[in-house]
Amino acid sequence: MKIFKTLATVLAVGAMALTASTATYAQDKGAIGIAMPTQSSLRWISDGNELKSALEGLGYTVDLQYAEDDIPNQLAQVENMVTKGSKALVVASVDGTTLSAVLQQAADAGIKVIAYDRLIRDSANVDLYTTFDNFQVGVLQANSLVKGLKERFPDTKPWNVELFGGSPDDNNAFFFYDGAMSVLQPMIDAGDIVVKSGQQGMDTVGTLRWDGAVAQARMDNILSANYSDGSVVHGVLAPYDGLSRGIISSLRGVGYGSGDLQWPIITGQDAEAPSVKAIIAGEQYSTIYKDTRELAAKTAELVDTLLTGGTPEGLDTTTYDNGVKVVPSILLTPYEVDASNYQALVIDSGYLKAEDIQ
Ligand code: BGC
Repeated sequence: MKIFKTLATVLAVGAMALTASTATYAQDKGAIGIAMPTQSSLRWISDGNELKSALEGLGYTVDLQYAEDDIPNQLAQVENMVTKGSKALVVASVDGTTLSAVLQQAADAGIKVIAYDRLIRDSANVDLYTTFDNFQVGVLQANSLVKGLKERFPDTKPWNVELFGGSPDDNNAFFFYDGAMSVLQPMIDAGDIVVKSGQQGMDTVGTLRWDGAVAQARMDNILSANYSDGSVVHGVLAPYDGLSRGIISSLRGVGYGSGDLQWPIITGQDAEAPSVKAIIAGEQYSTIYKDTRELAAKTAELVDTLLTGGTPEGLDTTTYDNGVKVVPSILLTPYEVDASNYQALVIDSGYLKAEDIQ
């Protein structure tokens, strides 16, 4: 009797497994490779997770890889995704200029390619680019810097401002910088802002791999070379929260934020939890909130559209020339976040949890 019962159970479980695997098979629309740059920044971790679950929800299987900011590592990961027969690749590149050969292989195999947040350059084989309005990110950063300077240093003119750029191998870094300088350059020309170090231009202010330690070391040098005479820094244009934190450490090291040395106005980007905390503490002035959940959802939807023979709509077809062609793009909206609106934009929207910033 017991044997029969056991057998019946085995058969029932087997039948269930069969149904489950049939269901999975019917649902399986193929594999998608997601290549993300690094886990050292919180945003890319949530981008990866959001994309993975959105694509799985649409019936795809997902191979999610992080390259830890290593170019050969990312190349190997993407090559592997091509070899394994992915239907589409979603790539946030470490260096947007190094993928041309592997993307040719992808195109030859009929694989669709989406550049995720960072433009892939020098390749005709990029079908779409999904990102935020990156020039506008820079405009928002600079407007926020100027707003903060007026608030905190109303009686000071000119304001001493130092400039930081993002990684020169990331196309976005130029858009952020150019957007910011569209606001700041006229003020420099008018004498309202002075860059005491004289360091301007992406070739001088760029920060390779968006590395906070590199920004911190550069800020240390700027402070000792230009501000040892008792003059003070009033503002720092920083394009990313990870750099802002390095810059804050450097400034703290020489006494800013204590005694009568007020914190300069420091910008950022990504609304990372430690930086939102720094905004609440008054150390960082602002950041830029980009709802990466929206970016991931939109990207997953577009992957599905491409793979099911649909036509993507609402594309920008003029802004992003990758050196070979203008890549049709989706440009989502970025928002400035400071102490006055972080609750509404970042917490109430569910982007960060209240406990993340305690
Ligand atoms: C992204 C930013 C991010 C930066 C550093 C850029 O490509 O657009 O959101 O701050 O990379 O990770």
